[in-house]
Amino acid sequence: MKYIGAHVSAAGGVFNAPLNATKIGATAFALFTKNQKQWKAAPLTEEVINKFKQNCKTHNFKPEQILPHDSYLINLGHPEAEKLEKSRNAFIDELQRCQQLGLVYLNFHPGTHLKKMSEDDCLSRIAESINLALQQVEDVTAVIENTAGQGSNLGYRFDHLAQIIDQVDDKSRVGVCLDTCHTFVSGYDLRGAEMCEKTFAEFEQVVGFQYLKGMHINDSKTPFASKVDRHAPLGAGEIGWGCFEYIMADKRFDGIPMVLETTNPELWPEEIAALKRLAGLTS
Ligand SMILES: [Zn+2]
Ligand SMILES: [Zn+2]
Repeated sequence: MKYIGAHVSAAGGVFNAPLNATKIGATAFALFTKNQKQWKAAPLTEEVINKFKQNCKTHNFKPEQILPHDSYLINLGHPEAEKLEKSRNAFIDELQRCQQLGLVYLNFHPGTHLKKMSEDDCLSRIAESINLALQQVEDVTAVIENTAGQGSNLGYRFDHLAQIIDQVDDKSRVGVCLDTCHTFVSGYDLRGAEMCEKTFAEFEQVVGFQYLKGMHINDSKTPFASKVDRHAPLGAGEIGWGCFEYIMADKRFDGIPMVLETTNPELWPEEIAALKRLAGLTS
């Protein structure tokens, strides 16, 4: 079964996210559990938590259909001790919020070395951050997103993801989220079935589908291997429908949240309906 949705608004309270997802015909969704541009947030109250759980239940969203995303400020590979500490604490807080909401995943960007340390050292530091956080919070799986490779952000090669996973102690609580736009602009071709076959075979070999816990389904405004991250509506970018057709027909992508982060939310109902049709789902 394919779970298909979008990164919806949680304005007014996290409990609005499942309602917003339902309105667009989604069977999966992503959300921020706090303002993604701020370090601090008020703790979730019992009332908010209960409302969120109730709305998820009413609208048939199980935890494995939901992919919360952490704050953009967090850098788990920060080269400076004080800022690393701040990021680690914020990440633990994000994991706790997910746990309180009964969620099982937290999606995050691995981190950036800011040209102050080697890639290998930074990847080890990210793994150490994950280990420390998983020791503090139970039940939630850390889901590393692959990146476009802009600036000094790591995670733009499958082997970056593998290197991090390799150094995480509890392999049952680490996973990855592949963003089709990031995959494509970082240099893995996805134009058509043949290229998808090749790229996902490489993913299987380097990382392994057992670690795939989510997908971001985006087309790309920028060209192949450009390392520039600009999402586009499906079919309106450089990747094209062939890739999305391929993914929707492939069982290896079953049972995980597949989330649109495309640039025009007005198109989300259409995009979700089209993906569902490609997956052989009716409504
Ligand atoms: Zn993404
Ligand atoms: Zn992106």
